[in-house]
Amino acid sequence: MAEKLEMTGNPEGPGSKEWLDGRLVQLPISMAPPLRFVNSYLLREPKSGGVTIIDPGPRSDITKQEWKRIRERFGIGPQQVKQIIVTHHHPDHFGMAGWLQQQFGAPVLMSEEAHREALRMWQPDRSMNRALPELFRQHGFPEPLVRQLPEHLESFYQQVEPMPEVTYIDESRQLEMGGWLWQPVLTGGHATGHLSFYQAEERMMLCGDAVLPQISPNISFYPGGDEQPLQTFMDGLRKLGQFEVNTAFPGHRHPFDSFHSRVQQLLDHHEERLAKVAGLLKQEGTQTGFKICEALFGMRPGIHQMRFAMSETLAHLALLVHRNEAEMELGERGLYQFSSRKAARIY
Ligand SMILES: [Zn+2]
Ligand SMILES: [Zn+2]
Repeated sequence: MAEKLEMTGNPEGPGSKEWLDGRLVQLPISMAPPLRFVNSYLLREPKSGGVTIIDPGPRSDITKQEWKRIRERFGIGPQQVKQIIVTHHHPDHFGMAGWLQQQFGAPVLMSEEAHREALRMWQPDRSMNRALPELFRQHGFPEPLVRQLPEHLESFYQQVEPMPEVTYIDESRQLEMGGWLWQPVLTGGHATGHLSFYQAEERMMLCGDAVLPQISPNISFYPGGDEQPLQTFMDGLRKLGQFEVNTAFPGHRHPFDSFHSRVQQLLDHHEERLAKVAGLLKQEGTQTGFKICEALFGMRPGIHQMRFAMSETLAHLALLVHRNEAEMELGERGLYQFSSRKAARIY
């Protein structure tokens, strides 16, 4: 049983790194700033040479070239790819699954919940392009930013086409990948239906975006989705924290070995932020979700960053309301207003 996994190679290619005699390969795939790279992983069966691809990345001309180089570098023939596994529906992870399925003829495996999210985001009627701006408007998101949202959301379609045929997986069945058995672990909050995968003998966790080093995974509150994504995310952290993990392989940045302390840091971070939001409501009085967003994050450059900030702020406010530490009321001009529970009683 490995105590701490050491990298066993660093071949040429786009910064790929190998672990466990090359049975597990980390492949940084290009994506838009600020993250710049998403980690795809190859799991290679030592005897048969069968390959599992985890999270192939977003589809673009650049990533198609990167995958061409990966195929050449690792000598991956069409029959060799057994399966393409997707941890969650975000375009930086799921986007290329359909394109690679066409290349390799391999099944694409993800949770039913995650697939439902993908269809909801990218179904032909584009309903999210209307629902999200409307929700944000009701929470005080400034009109010039609201107007940028439909085009911004539309820009992701090209990263996820063609959509794959999907086979569903869940926690009830272990998966064979790279000659090991892996236990799927379902969590949410960052993305509904997110699956991480745990390998008990080597004590390693492929954790997608459920736990990231350095970065706090964005908590997604959006219309028609999980009404308590932050609670779900924190429950998921506690669930993942119960596994004995020596090395975690995340969806962004580098593999790391301090899995449990990272899980605890993220839990602490969100409790601190909840206390901060509750404090702001007490000190500053009744205000919109966007005012709280500004106080927490400031004005970030670009609509993408602002969407993430707003979505995460609403997730925190929703949990405070659920915990009876805040109240939400529909005020003038159809704007929702949040107030501290105590302050609200004085009126
Ligand atoms: Zn994600
Ligand atoms: Zn991601």
